[in-house]
Amino acid sequence: MIVAVASGKGGTGKTTVTASLATVWNEPLVAVDLDVEEPNLHLFLHPTLEGSDLAHLEIPVLDKSRCTFCGACSELCQFKAISVMGKIVMTFPEMCHGCGGCIAICPEKALSPGTRELGEISWGRTGRDGQVGFLMGRLRVGEAMSPPFMRLVKAKLNAMLAASPRDAIIDAPPGVSCPAVNAVLDSDMILLVTEPTPFGFYDFQLAWEAFTPLEKPMGAVINRAGLGNDDIHHFCRDKAVPILAEIPYDRGIAEAYARGRVIAEVSPTLAATFGSLRDKIRALAEESRMREVAHA
Ligand code: SF4
Ligand code: SF4
Repeated sequence: MIVAVASGKGGTGKTTVTASLATVWNEPLVAVDLDVEEPNLHLFLHPTLEGSDLAHLEIPVLDKSRCTFCGACSELCQFKAISVMGKIVMTFPEMCHGCGGCIAICPEKALSPGTRELGEISWGRTGRDGQVGFLMGRLRVGEAMSPPFMRLVKAKLNAMLAASPRDAIIDAPPGVSCPAVNAVLDSDMILLVTEPTPFGFYDFQLAWEAFTPLEKPMGAVINRAGLGNDDIHHFCRDKAVPILAEIPYDRGIAEAYARGRVIAEVSPTLAATFGSLRDKIRALAEESRMREVAHA
């Protein structure tokens, strides 16, 4: 089972929920940080890293001596990453998605694959006795193209799961733009972390709207419960989104978080909260799987 932990906005406690779930998970697991622009799951889980790779995107490199300036590459590229004006061919590597289409279509073989560094993928182990796998992507500073990099991190995750089948919990990027949707695409269920403030509620609705078309089971975690009002509760009731856990608005929790502690380890009550959340996630995913089987 792959669980994506997402949120409509940053700062709701998505990473702290991911770290706590990884700590209480009672089946083999990989904890994944796909918030590649600002990965911070490692700050809570303190993994021992065992390896890393630089990830690259394949971009076109022009051999001007072969080019007839026919414009076929420019017409094909949906991202305006290659442009032909008269006898000038311009490439814009920062806009290239690495689809390879222009290289394949060039009738003169004037384009060949080059590379652009996207970021670094690291992996290792965490948890007691190092029994939890860990995977993290860190986008290169200044790099704007996170979805292709995230696909490479997910390919590494798939290889890890193929080599050793287990569950995965993904810390997704916040928001509802391309990277956030990309992060939850392959998951079996989406856990939306929110807080009961006006901003939290607004962004929670956006996240629900963005992820609903994916037709995956969704559950909510309300962090800092007790703050604000009941709008999220009403919304979840109307839309049949189960609230799987509520984490109280508590100074002790905030202090533990600020010190980089996993909050499931702060008190027996919080350990029980996250243990119950884990069980409800499993039940929700299983319920959805049974429904799919029944409809097949
Ligand atoms: S498709 Fe090839 S030959 Fe045509 S303009 Fe592009 S690089 Fe030049
Ligand atoms: S590889 Fe794809 S995205 Fe990049 S320039 Fe060529 S057609 Fe455009």
